[in-house]
Amino acid sequence: MSVLSKPYFHDEAAAFAFVERIIWNGEPVCPHCGVVGRAYALKAVRSKPSKKNPEGVVRHGLKKCGACRAQFTVRIGTIFEESHLPLHKWLQAIYLMCSSKKGISAKQLERTLEVTYKTAWFLGHRIREAMRDTAMTPMGGEGMTLEVDETFLGRQATIFVSGKGWQQRRGTGDMRKIVTLVERGGRARSVHVPSLRKEDIVAVMAHADRASVLNTDQAQHYRRIGTEFAAHETVDHGRDEYVRYDGDVVTTTNTIEGYFSIFKRGMKGIYQHCSEKHLQRYLAEFDFRYSNRSALGCEDEERAARALAGIVGKRLTYRGGTNRRTEAASA
Ligand SMILES: [Zn+2]
Repeated sequence: MSVLSKPYFHDEAAAFAFVERIIWNGEPVCPHCGVVGRAYALKAVRSKPSKKNPEGVVRHGLKKCGACRAQFTVRIGTIFEESHLPLHKWLQAIYLMCSSKKGISAKQLERTLEVTYKTAWFLGHRIREAMRDTAMTPMGGEGMTLEVDETFLGRQATIFVSGKGWQQRRGTGDMRKIVTLVERGGRARSVHVPSLRKEDIVAVMAHADRASVLNTDQAQHYRRIGTEFAAHETVDHGRDEYVRYDGDVVTTTNTIEGYFSIFKRGMKGIYQHCSEKHLQRYLAEFDFRYSNRSALGCEDEERAARALAGIVGKRLTYRGGTNRRTEAASA
């Protein structure tokens, strides 16, 4: 049996059971009144007949709250509520995005899931949002090495130079700038910054635990802030120095170079175009897969389950008043 033959990827009832297990762990929470564990399942309820479905469709995962008598499903209060896509297709999309190291394009999702491009695009961005780390605990810490480096995306504008024609401008001024922090043997966190000026570097470094040992290249903008750390070691790429060993202390930025290489291959090969507005979301996606990677003991299925928990966690808010009797979104 392959992973793709799991029932929750095909069968809507199994998909509901799977999501309920991850979100509720056996104790349904009523989204209307917040009471835990008093709901019971309503079986074989069908939606109203329509032209398309004259006999109605089965309302999977329908529950009734023993406290406030309102009906709900696990979709309520989550991003799934806004969408009419069957839950098993959501699970397929989440799995595909979590298991593809360089990401998966909206075009590919459109073909694989047999949905419209618009739906595929929406799915991709919602799942990226789910992957976003909201806890934002400090990166690094005592006894940990934190590698920090920047990378650039996009291209420089061209300018007309008399006698030479159109020339690409030098430098990185027009390119998008990304600063990433990578814990050696741990997580990654990337920030799209407007510039590499002091205030922007300081803002990114607010994510770093000062008890860490900082490893960077020789870039000027890390020098001053580096003095705040337990230690700041640099490698001199200008002199072809990429790794330095002092006893058992290793100084390098190779870990973060590895991260950037996956990110760039993904952005060039898979996503190709990415507007400035969405860049931070793509960064969240690459950070998520890196921070929950196989080398840290997190395999594809576990990674998908973590993303799923993020999807629900992001919008789990209690509703009251006018929407109290809102029925569950139909599958
Ligand atoms: Zn209730």
